[in-house]
Amino acid sequence: MGQFLPFTKQALKNLFSKPATTQYPFVERVYPERTRGHVDIKNDDCILCGMCMRSCPPGAIKVDRAGKSWSINRFDCIQCGYCVEKCPKKCLSITAGYQEPGPEKFSYKVEVPYEPPKPAAKPANIAAATKEG
Ligand code: SF4
Ligand code: SF4
Repeated sequence: MGQFLPFTKQALKNLFSKPATTQYPFVERVYPERTRGHVDIKNDDCILCGMCMRSCPPGAIKVDRAGKSWSINRFDCIQCGYCVEKCPKKCLSITAGYQEPGPEKFSYKVEVPYEPPKPAAKPANIAAATKEG
């Protein structure tokens, strides 16, 4: 008889508690906090330094300085978060929501408005000395 007691206790507990499962797809799944879903960029803050591209183990990120764009192949990304850690401008983040499967790999590309600073003009006396020398 005593062996049934733990079972009865669990059965009664389950009877009066909420189910552990959800009625997907009728109930939308809420991602847990800190889910490593996909990498997002605030492209207005990007300075096209390329640190994210160099730190990405599978080479999922491409930074094109000349073309002023940043792109990621989400199918190659392993959500390790190195790019987020390395970005000096803190413009990358990993947010909830996974890349949906598809028949072909494709890149997500954004334009980056960053204008690199123009090299400062040399003071006249240094410019003249460089010419003479
Ligand atoms: S999370 Fe990792 S794999 Fe994904 S883009 Fe960033 S560095 Fe690359
Ligand atoms: S996202 Fe960050 S690390 Fe990557 S190029 Fe832009 S500023 Fe540099």
